[in-house]
Amino acid sequence: MTIAHHPALIIGAGVVGLSTALYLQRDGMQVTVLDPLGPAGGASFGNAGMLSPDTAAPIAMPGMLRKVPGWLRDPLGPLAVRPSYLPRALPWLRQWVKAGRLDRVLAASDAMRALHRETLVCWRELLGDSLYHNLIRPSGQVHVWEGDDASPTEAVEQQIRDRHGIQATPLGADDLRQMFPGIARDIRRGLHVPGNAHTVSPQRIVTTLGELFRQAGGTIIAERAMKLIPRDGGGYTVMTNRANRTADRLVVAAGAWSARLLAPLGIHVPLETERGYHAMLFAPSMQPAMPISSKSRAFFVTPMEDGLCIAGTVEIAGLDAPPDERRATVLVDHARRLFPALEAGEVRTWMGFRPSTPDSLPILGPVAGHPGLYLAFGHGHFGMSGGPPSGRLLARLIAGAAPGIDPAPYGAQRFSR
Ligand SMILES: Cc1cc2nc3c(=O)[nH]c(=O)nc-3n(C[C@H](O)[C@H](O)[C@H](O)COP(=O)(O)OP(=O)(O)OC[C@H]3O[C@@H](n4cnc5c(N)ncnc54)[C@H](O)[C@@H]3O)c2cc1C
Repeated sequence: MTIAHHPALIIGAGVVGLSTALYLQRDGMQVTVLDPLGPAGGASFGNAGMLSPDTAAPIAMPGMLRKVPGWLRDPLGPLAVRPSYLPRALPWLRQWVKAGRLDRVLAASDAMRALHRETLVCWRELLGDSLYHNLIRPSGQVHVWEGDDASPTEAVEQQIRDRHGIQATPLGADDLRQMFPGIARDIRRGLHVPGNAHTVSPQRIVTTLGELFRQAGGTIIAERAMKLIPRDGGGYTVMTNRANRTADRLVVAAGAWSARLLAPLGIHVPLETERGYHAMLFAPSMQPAMPISSKSRAFFVTPMEDGLCIAGTVEIAGLDAPPDERRATVLVDHARRLFPALEAGEVRTWMGFRPSTPDSLPILGPVAGHPGLYLAFGHGHFGMSGGPPSGRLLARLIAGAAPGIDPAPYGAQRFSR
C-alpha cells in the first residue's frame, strides 16, 4: 500500500483534467493525475471532435420542449430516456426545462461565449504550433436541416449569434451541393459557421496532452479515487483502489462520475449523464470537406484521420446501464440520409458519458467551506471546446492570478440560489 503526498492532485485524465494539469504545471506546480483508464478513456475518447469558439447556444432552449414528445416516440431518435431511470433523472430534467427560459439562455450564452471564444487560443498554448497544426483543422462547420420548415429554436440561435457578433452564412441547396457533392436532394438549407474548427482525432489530441504533461515531469497514475477525506489542517486524503494519497490541492475532473465522488462530502451538484454514441467508419466511400451537423437529427459527421465519425444523440439512462448499440448503428442510417451513396465499410460503435449540467455550463472553481478542493466538470456537449479554457481559468484561480474572465457563472453555488 502506497502512502504519498502531492502538492496538487487531479482526479480524471480527460480533456478537462489534463488541460488543468498542464496549465498548473506551467505555473510551476508539481502535479499528479489519477485515472484508472489513463488519458482519453472517457467521453474525451470518441466525441465528434468539434472545437467551437463560435458556439454559444446552450442545449436547453425556448421551443425545444415542443420537439421532445416527437423525439421520445422514437426509441432510436435524437433523445431517449430509459423508463426505469426516469424517476432518478426527473429533478435534473426539471432544472433543464427551467434553464430553457429565454432570459436564462441568454445569460448562459454569455458565459459559454466567454469560455469557448478562447478555445483555439488555449489549444495552441497547450499543444504548441506544430502539434496544433497536426491535430486541428480550422475548416469551419456546416449546419444542415431536412426540409424547408424553420425549427423552433432557430430564431433564438440567430439571436445568440447576433448578440455575440458570431459570423454565419446561410446556404441554399446549390451551395450545399457544391460544398458536399452527393448530398441528398432534401437537404435544402444550411448555415456555414467559418470560425469553428475540429480535431482529426479526439483521442490523439487528448493523449497528446497527457504525453506533454509527462514529458514536462508530470505523473499519471492508473488508480481509481474511491473516497475523498478532508484532512485536519487543510487538504485532502484520497483513498484509491491501491493507495492513500494526500494533497494540498485536489481537483475533481472526473467527468460524469464527479458527482458520485462529491456526494459523501455533502456537495450535491445537478450533474446527469447525457450518454452519446458514435459510429466510426474506418473505410467510408466518401469524406466531406468539413464537419456537418444535422440539426434535424442531432448528430455530427466529422472527417477524421481514422475515417468518418458519425456522433451524437442523447440517452438519459445513468452511469450503470449497458450501452444500446442500436443507437450507434442507426447513426449510419442517418448519415445515409445526408449522403445516400455512402458505403460504410468496417464500423466501430462506441458510447460515451457526457457530464451534463441543466444550463450547459461547466462547474468550475473552489467550493465554499471546502478549502483545497476545486471542481472542474460538467462540460456536457462542449468539453472539447470548453476544456482547455476551463483548465486555464482553474489554474489561474488556484494560483491567485487574475482569472481573465468572470468565474462567477461557473460556480457550483449557482444551483443553490
Ligand atoms: C457522442 C459525443 C459527441 C461529442 N461531441 C463533442 C464535440 O464535438 N465537441 C465538444 O466540445 N464536445 C463534445 N462532446 C462532449 C465531450 O466529449 C465532453 O464534454 C468531454 O470529453 C468531457 O471531458 P471530461 O474530461 O470532463 O470527461 P471524460 O473525458 O469523461 O474524463 C473523465 C475521466 O475521469 C476518470 N474518472 C472517473 N471516475 C474516476 C475516479 N473515481 N478516479 C479516477 N478517475 C476517474 C474517467 O476514467 C475519465 O477518464 C461529445 C460527447 C459525446 C458523448
